[in-house]
Amino acid sequence: MSFANIYGHHQQITMLQKAMARKRVGHSYIFSGLAAIGKKTLALEFARALNCENAGIRQDACGSCPSCRKMTRGNHPDIHVLEAQTQFIRIADIRGIQDQMTFRPLEGRKRVFIIDDADKMNEQAANALLKTLEEPSADNLLILVTARPFWLPQTILSRCLHVRFNPLPAETVARFLTDQKGMDPAGAPALASLSGGSIGRALEMDSEDMIAFRARLSNLLRSAGIGEPMNRLVLASFLGQDKKRLQQGLSILHTYFRDALVYRETARASMVINADDLPAVESLAGRLKGSQMLHNIAVLENSRQSLDMNVNKSLTLEAMAFKLHL
Ligand SMILES: [Zn+2]
Repeated sequence: MSFANIYGHHQQITMLQKAMARKRVGHSYIFSGLAAIGKKTLALEFARALNCENAGIRQDACGSCPSCRKMTRGNHPDIHVLEAQTQFIRIADIRGIQDQMTFRPLEGRKRVFIIDDADKMNEQAANALLKTLEEPSADNLLILVTARPFWLPQTILSRCLHVRFNPLPAETVARFLTDQKGMDPAGAPALASLSGGSIGRALEMDSEDMIAFRARLSNLLRSAGIGEPMNRLVLASFLGQDKKRLQQGLSILHTYFRDALVYRETARASMVINADDLPAVESLAGRLKGSQMLHNIAVLENSRQSLDMNVNKSLTLEAMAFKLHL
């Protein structure tokens, strides 16, 4: 592994490498952003690079020195990952870190403690950690990883360098799915587009199930467009089956209108998310104007917002089905 193996987050990587090159690595960082997008993976890679014996001018791990090999095996004595064993991270967990910090690193240059889901620290644990943040030592680095930085006390936030992570572009998630999981390149973009920019979420989804769900939706979209108006109600009730499916269904419809718009303008199948269902995209692009597709995307977005506010679900979906140009 090295930074080159990280999917996305180039800006964040460059920032950390610059800090390494200038020997200005901070004592404590917060890595925040959506769950399961690679924050902890990057924290581990940063720890590896800081301890690599050959990091030299590349500011990256070599992957083959004794330190890198220990990291790969997961038994580097100076790299620690703290995860909540229960609902909370407790004061005893933080004391454990503080006890180790009083010694010099055993082998490496920098002892790194990664606290995953740091927002799970209870009040006593957070207060204990604050002491450490107030008295930093050059031998130790703390990285707090969290999807909910707003749950951390201001006193902690203000003492850490805050690195914010963005959701990954769908292309990056798709590349991960094809490279690392051997997924069919034709199906990966559709799954990636539903992941909301999170590799973890994409992996949680059952791809066959998702592709079958999308196929059903694609059929309903077509029959609502070229068949009887009643078919719009069928589409609405299909979407309203269950809450989780509803959000996914709206996202899928969004990708179809987005695709149709892009395909209409570029005529390039490679730009299309639902490339494995190109006939459906072509059909929409052929029968709708650009302005109608933009209207549809806005209708979907408005409906999503209304549904988030818990308005009557079936009424909202039925109204939506009749507002769409199909
Ligand atoms: Zn190395």
